Amino acid sequence: MNILESVKKDCCGCSACMNSCPRNCITMQPDGEGFLYPNVDEKLCVDCGRCVNVCPVLKEKKTDNKPKAYLVRNRNKNLRSTSTSGGFFAAAAEFVLDQGGCVFGAGFNENFDVVHSYIEDPKDIRKFNRSKYVQSEIGLTYRKVKEFLEKDRTVLFSGTPCQVEGLLNYLGRDHDKLYTMDIICKGVPSPKFWRKYLSWQKKKSKKAIREVRFREKTYGYGSTTMRVIFSDGSQYDEPYDVDPMLQFYSKEMISRPSCHNCHCKGKFRRSSFTAGDYWYVSGAAPRMDDGIGVSQVLVNNEKAAAAFEKMKKYLDTEPLDFDNDSAINGGMMVGSARPSPRRDEMFADLDNMSVYALQKKYFPSTFKLKNRIKRQIRPIMYKTGLLKLYKKRMRRIQSEKSFERQNPEA
Ligand SMILES: Cc1cc2nc3c(=O)[nH]c(=O)nc-3n(C[C@H](O)[C@H](O)[C@H](O)COP(=O)(O)OP(=O)(O)OC[C@H]3O[C@@H](n4cnc5c(N)ncnc54)[C@H](O)[C@@H]3O)c2cc1C
Repeated sequence: MNILESVKKDCCGCSACMNSCPRNCITMQPDGEGFLYPNVDEKLCVDCGRCVNVCPVLKEKKTDNKPKAYLVRNRNKNLRSTSTSGGFFAAAAEFVLDQGGCVFGAGFNENFDVVHSYIEDPKDIRKFNRSKYVQSEIGLTYRKVKEFLEKDRTVLFSGTPCQVEGLLNYLGRDHDKLYTMDIICKGVPSPKFWRKYLSWQKKKSKKAIREVRFREKTYGYGSTTMRVIFSDGSQYDEPYDVDPMLQFYSKEMISRPSCHNCHCKGKFRRSSFTAGDYWYVSGAAPRMDDGIGVSQVLVNNEKAAAAFEKMKKYLDTEPLDFDNDSAINGGMMVGSARPSPRRDEMFADLDNMSVYALQKKYFPSTFKLKNRIKRQIRPIMYKTGLLKLYKKRMRRIQSEKSFERQNPEA
């Protein structure tokens, strides 16, 4: 029996319960959709209640810290082009590693499962760079964070809002040398769907996978592209409305149920920093818009503000008006995405249908001639520079529309 069963629909899988259990009687087990949930060995459990006390859903903690908002670009263009948005994470990681600290984040293991681990060397930052749109497995990393803090090491922990809340609840008190960075998060997709997708890629190509990039920027920051690089160097490149992983994610069919009613996001956060994308840069700060990406960063408290000052040697920054900005760009900062009405039907089909058959059933337009032509044209537009001009124009229109929505009398 599982003592947390009563909150299954809200359980975010942060694993704070497992990390906190003094008898090690909680393990995280996948359900039919492939998401991890706590499972309690009742024979070992002594009902101490720690698992419930650290749960960010059962023991929601609020703050009224008022953040300062910035647009941020990492000055190192290489690092920025291998980051999802403006490379803020890489700067925060460098700041902590420069002090002999360690950095926790989500990376791939040898099977391309997404897992949390830590690094101690700046040359390993790339391991955590880039968003992986799959729920990462926390394992026992919160215990490791505590161990490092007890040894007086500086720590940066990065993850989803629920993972940062889980860690803070697990630690129980603030530590001078702890920095946390949560992301603006739409939701975390199913590891089971992800494994099925990887098998599909391998079977289709008859090759092993060497690298995966969910947000390749070759076609620009705004052109979300899935790139899979195979063992012989050949590549699969498809945009978000063609690649099945990105398609099912963007249409809200494969995120964890709790992501559709997230308890851990909001305008005011206990994390040190919050980082996300910023699509309206050409309107808010045209000088920052070079098509390689910018991060929107919230600096959530005074300790974080002091660290941010020191990080500025790695960054170009531009202040944003927090209230106005969060209204413009804050959809996923405060709200939860609504699930597709076909989400349950899709998961019922998952074990019985191939990725190709699922795509044919749920996204038949992917295979229409018009869309196939669009995919052929994109590389040509990219090589001739037309794609860049088109994207810039679209960003500006988007930006103007959003400004008008916020300032109807201007
Ligand atoms: C699942 C997910 C959903 C997101 N949804 C939104 C959104 O709706 N709106 C928005 O503005 N931004 C969203 N983001 C955030 C955005 O994509 C960037 O991660 C953010 O802007 C930071 O980018 P960066 O350039 O600073 O660093 P990057 O180098 O790109 O960021 C890497 C950081 O993200 C963490 N990370 C990567 N994958 C995961 C994962 N699966 N679980 C936990 N942590 C992870 C790493 O630990 C590292 O700290 C999402 C990110 C993820 C992972």
